[in-house]
Amino acid sequence: MSKEKSLVRSLSDDLIETCAKSGYSLKRIASYQLIYASLGTICPELGNERVIPFEKVENVHLGSEVQFNRFESVERAQGILKIDYWSATDLIAIVIAVIQKSRIRVAQVRLLLDMEISAATREAAFSSLLMNLKLSDQGVTLQPTTATLAIAAGLIPKPDTSLKARLNMAVDWPQRHRSELIELVTSEVCYFWPFPPASHPELSAASRDMFFGGNFASGEMGMGFSIVQQDRAPKTRSRLMPYSVRTTRYLVKTPIWFARVADGKWRMCNILRSSILDDTPFSQSRLSDLLPNGLQGLVRIFGCKSCGTLFLEERVKQLDVPTRCECDANSVVEHVVQAQPPISSNAH
Ligand SMILES: [Zn+2]
Repeated sequence: MSKEKSLVRSLSDDLIETCAKSGYSLKRIASYQLIYASLGTICPELGNERVIPFEKVENVHLGSEVQFNRFESVERAQGILKIDYWSATDLIAIVIAVIQKSRIRVAQVRLLLDMEISAATREAAFSSLLMNLKLSDQGVTLQPTTATLAIAAGLIPKPDTSLKARLNMAVDWPQRHRSELIELVTSEVCYFWPFPPASHPELSAASRDMFFGGNFASGEMGMGFSIVQQDRAPKTRSRLMPYSVRTTRYLVKTPIWFARVADGKWRMCNILRSSILDDTPFSQSRLSDLLPNGLQGLVRIFGCKSCGTLFLEERVKQLDVPTRCECDANSVVEHVVQAQPPISSNAH
């Protein structure tokens, strides 16, 4: 979780600097306390035991607007800094503006789905985040803008979040047709990317987290993973793409699921397609920047056409990670395509 800590650290640096310009002298620990209080997470004093993941989103509209705990963070600012209510309100407005500008938020989809986060941490963090919806002591609450908070608030039921259940559901697209993902992973070498960076425009869908109110209220989420495949298409030079001969393209597929409040059932609603280009002048973020060891740093994902299941390469024994299909394990190999030798991102 060191990366998440560094996100909060950079936020803290920005906050101290911005507050100094407005005449508030903030100590490091106070900056952390106000950031955590505004984001609605449990305070840093408990951080050693309860680690909450943070992420930087590429674009707030791809996720949703972060909901802040304005109500309690003003009280907290008064307590920490011994300032009056109006100064605390002014200060918290600055804190929230700095957080919004940073596009850093609690990685709520990861918090919900990551099996490495303990159930106790998950529960404590979500009950704390739920306080962001509280507008007053009189029980006035806001509607959540995220599916994860809608689940925490009991508006939609929590889906089976195990990896096996998510992979099984991802297979079910397009509905009543041959599974797009089974077809993909049985014909191409594909890799499983758990919790890819939300800050990357082509990978942010896995962290998608939205709740829409109204008559057809529903929640929509990424499943916390993307499947990535190195494109095998022949590379040709053209007038428009003179450098395409040196381009490596990685195709990314990200399953999305959703639930309506009316029936409370989670189902697939789409598989989003995107691609990451390496070695082009307009590549903003190369795959090698995101994955220092390239695709080999990820585990392979396989599928079986007979039983229609997806499963992962067995690298480390991990509970709840399906590593074989539901048929006889001996037949699995026949369904698996062989990996090509890795292509160096510097190879021209
Ligand atoms: Zn099978």
